Amino acid sequence: MKSKLSLKAEFLNMLSPKVRESSERVLAGEPLNAGHASAILQAGPSELPVLTWLSRTVKLKLRGGFISYSRKVFIPLTRLCRNACLYCGFRVDQPKPGEVFLKPRQVLAVAEAGARAGCFEALFTLGEKPEEKYPEALKELKGLGFSSTVEYLYECCRLVFKRTGLMPHSNPGILSFDELKALREVNVSMGLMLENVSHRLCKPGGPHQPSPGKNPKLRMEVLENAGRLKIAFTTGVLLGIGETEAELAQSLEAILKVHQRYGHVQEVIVQPFKAKAGTPMAHHPEPSLLQLKKALAAASLLYAGEIPVQTPPNLPEAESLAGLVEPAIDDWGGVSPVTPDHVNHERPWPQVEALRRAAGAWGFPLKVRLPVYPKYVVERLDFIPEAFRKPVDRLTDRLGYVREV
Ligand code: SF4
Repeated sequence: MKSKLSLKAEFLNMLSPKVRESSERVLAGEPLNAGHASAILQAGPSELPVLTWLSRTVKLKLRGGFISYSRKVFIPLTRLCRNACLYCGFRVDQPKPGEVFLKPRQVLAVAEAGARAGCFEALFTLGEKPEEKYPEALKELKGLGFSSTVEYLYECCRLVFKRTGLMPHSNPGILSFDELKALREVNVSMGLMLENVSHRLCKPGGPHQPSPGKNPKLRMEVLENAGRLKIAFTTGVLLGIGETEAELAQSLEAILKVHQRYGHVQEVIVQPFKAKAGTPMAHHPEPSLLQLKKALAAASLLYAGEIPVQTPPNLPEAESLAGLVEPAIDDWGGVSPVTPDHVNHERPWPQVEALRRAAGAWGFPLKVRLPVYPKYVVERLDFIPEAFRKPVDRLTDRLGYVREV
């Protein structure tokens, strides 16, 4: 931030010393660090109005005045996973024989329905490398003519784009440099949630203990390699899984640092934990709306003009939607007119009109974006893989959002 903002002293006087210090840095246009973000995460309810005002002001000034979403279909290619996160409601461990993976005709049926409903994104979400743990996964892949989930995913992405025009965005978990490089050819953007940078959460009793792929070092390597490969990349944090405020702040800062090296993090998702029946964390408390708002404000102020902030609209209660706009989100993520949210399937997607009303309540018009963010469409074409450049150009306006007809 270059120019200074101002706020009446009476408002600053209401803040605790640490929150005041962070706020004064924002007002002076100075960047924040994890310590400042941690102070914001520990703010009291009475401090929230000042923090959310600052956050909205910074968003308007540095990240633009719109809130966006992507019209997508959700393709759960496989629910088998080599990991077993204690909160996961997506993973299955006993699939019916022959049904480990969706077959190409099933994948295409979902994508074709999405194309008919005006979607632009095919979101491939899947368990991580199930063939490393389950012999039936490897057997099924071999029967399909592939030796790994990543190879099969490549083919499904290629097919979907060729046959339907939907642009793939895949979240297949940990990938090597070469796997990322290959998938970049058939994905307009990709993603991997960092979740949290704390190794403590991987220790016995922690939510990531049974999940080798949730090792923060491995996940940061993927973020690093995605930057080297110029992949417009989505990542994020999972709020409320037992992390401390300092660990959450360090996670947000770790993402910022890798982004500052490559400019590739197109959005950071702040995803609140939801307790799923039948999982080991079924009775773990969920984060409150206040915690979520503070996390969104901390992310928004830490990222300033650098990275947009997303939170999914189907997680909080419907009446809280406008409350999520208050701390200045930039995006609602993918909203599907066709498929349910397979990760949080008990939560229906809100209607687009409800999102428009919630955004409008704080003065932000709603826009449709492609799976790749407007910044890359307008300023960084080198991040758009060759195969997607023409359709991206045809579909977008001068700001990089989907052209309105
Ligand atoms: S990596 Fe993802 S799919 Fe696998 S167990 Fe963890 S949350 Fe579930």
